[in-house]
Order: sequence, then C-alpha cells, then structure tokens
Amino acid sequence: MTFSANGFDVEYGRNLLARLVVGLDSYVIIHHPEPWALVESSLDHPPAQQFAAGDLSPRHLDRLVDDVKSLHERTPIDAVIGLGGGSAMDTAKWIGWRTGLPLYQVPSLPSVNACFTRMTALRDAGGVRYEGDAIPNTVLVDFELFEAAPPELVRGGIGDVLSCHTARFDWQLGAAAGRDAPWDETQAAMSLTYLDELESLAPALAAGEEDGITRLMECHRDIGWRCHELGHARFEEGSEHFFAYSFEEVTGRTIMHGELVALGVLIMSAIQGNDPDRPRRIIDAAGMRSGLGELGVTWDEVEASLRRMPSFVEEQELWFSIANDLVVDDKLLAVARHALRLA
Ligand SMILES: [Zn+2]
Repeated sequence: MTFSANGFDVEYGRNLLARLVVGLDSYVIIHHPEPWALVESSLDHPPAQQFAAGDLSPRHLDRLVDDVKSLHERTPIDAVIGLGGGSAMDTAKWIGWRTGLPLYQVPSLPSVNACFTRMTALRDAGGVRYEGDAIPNTVLVDFELFEAAPPELVRGGIGDVLSCHTARFDWQLGAAAGRDAPWDETQAAMSLTYLDELESLAPALAAGEEDGITRLMECHRDIGWRCHELGHARFEEGSEHFFAYSFEEVTGRTIMHGELVALGVLIMSAIQGNDPDRPRRIIDAAGMRSGLGELGVTWDEVEASLRRMPSFVEEQELWFSIANDLVVDDKLLAVARHALRLA
C-alpha cells in the first residue's frame, strides 16, 4: 500500500451481513437480486421490507422514503441496509439521509465508490445530479460476495480509480482555462498515487486475491473521503465519465459503470495525448474486459457518444474538460479506434 486510506468505517471479512442482522430488531434492505439470493437464507430474520435497486429517479426514491417513514411509524426500524452494486448503495444512501435512520452498506462488487460517498447520483432530466449527505455506520466488505460475483465484474472495479488518469489531465486543462476549481498540486498528485497503487494491485485483483480486493476498496474509500473534503471530484472525474454519461444518453442504456468508465479512459487518454499506454497496461494486468465485442458495445455507439459529447457537457454544465472543445472529425475517430485496438 502506497498510502493509508481515510474515510468511512469499514470492516473486511466474511458472513458480515448475517452477523449484523443478528443484532438488529427490524431493518429495511435495498438489494440487487444476485447477492440477495446468496445471503437471504443465512439471515437470522427477514427484513421488515425489501426493495429492488435500480430506479434512481427522484420520484421513485422519494416514494421509497415515504414507504419507509410510514413503516417506521408503525414498527421502529433500526437500520437501512444497501446490498449490491452502485444503485443499491445510492438508494440506501437516499433513504438513510431522508429518514435519518442508521445506514449500513454491503457492496457486492468493487465496481463503484458509491458505498464510500455521501451523495446519491440521481438520474434526472437525462443526466446525473448529485444530492444528499449520508454517512454509513459501517461499510461491510464481504469477500464471499465478491468471490461469488462474475470475476470480470470484480475486475471492472478499477474503472473508478483508473479515471484519475484522464480526470487529472482535464482538471489541469480546466484550471488553465480559468474555468474550474483551482489547481491543487497536492491533491492532483494523489491522482498519480492512486494510479501507482492500482498498477501495483492489478495482478492480485486479476487472481481474485483478497489482498487485491482490499487494496482496491481502500482506494475507493480514500477517493470518496477526498471528494468530500475537497468539495469536488476533479482529480477522479473528467471526460472519461462524461463519455460514459454521453453514452448512456445516446444509447438509452448502460453497461457496468467501471467498464464503461474504463472505456472512456482508453479513448479520452488517447485523445488527450496523455500516455494512453498506462491505462491500457493497468487494464490488461487486472484482466479487465475492454474489447467492444466482450462489452457488448458497437463502434457506432462509441462514435455517436463522442459526437454528442461537446454539446452534452455544455447542456449538462459539466466541468470543463477536453470534451468541451472536441472536434469529432475523421482524425479524432481514428485516434479513438486505435485506442480500442480496432485499427
Ligand atoms: Zn464513476
């Protein structure tokens, strides 16, 4: 470990949710079906209410809040638990924040840092809006859940750390243009520290070792903490995420967040002229999927997402990045194709 992480309290181990539930009288759980199927029978008693994660529209989330509030009035609830991927974490955060009930997060994939951040990524008006302020009592990182998950989805967890590579470049660009959070050399240097750590842990992650998972989660933990301390995520979020959001708008669908963001890192680092070999090296060492075929993405979708980016980032008022002045011509598309090993 090249740094020691700050952030929410976290527990690493096995069978953690079952042990938590033993100590609870009544709880509400927001889950994804796969991890829920895995742990449901091991729990001492069932939840007072359960919700399937997925819909992150404000309307839906507020309806869940109302449900939990009225349930809590009838029978006191002593915990809100998120179990699964990013949308389960985000939904649990929203309910925890709006009800003030104690929150526990049980990620089933290291795919996003959603369990280590306070705000919910609401899907609103065709874009993403961050709101809320939830602090979990504990984040429970259960290796059994990670081992049961498809290995490629575990490896995809590097996407939201790899994004530091392109985000740091965009931050510098935005600061130089006078359009952004001021450049902070110390914080920006952390982007490189995370990348060093990622490069060093990648082989252990590819092998599915606990050490690789722990170190990756510690990166997510520190990044979540830093975003809050800084008041922005410029060292971690830039044009690679904007590519992902543009892709979601253009195609009306999504793929795993970390894989989509990593796709954005490969493309945007090449367009930035920003050492695209480094993210490629890390992706390969981690055994992460990055070919369009294996991701189920077509080149036409990539091209359409790139073409939409300059207007999309303006409309959504996203941070200044290389996307703002992007001229999507044949030359640029050739660079992107090359980055994806299509040419
Ligand atoms: Zn992300």
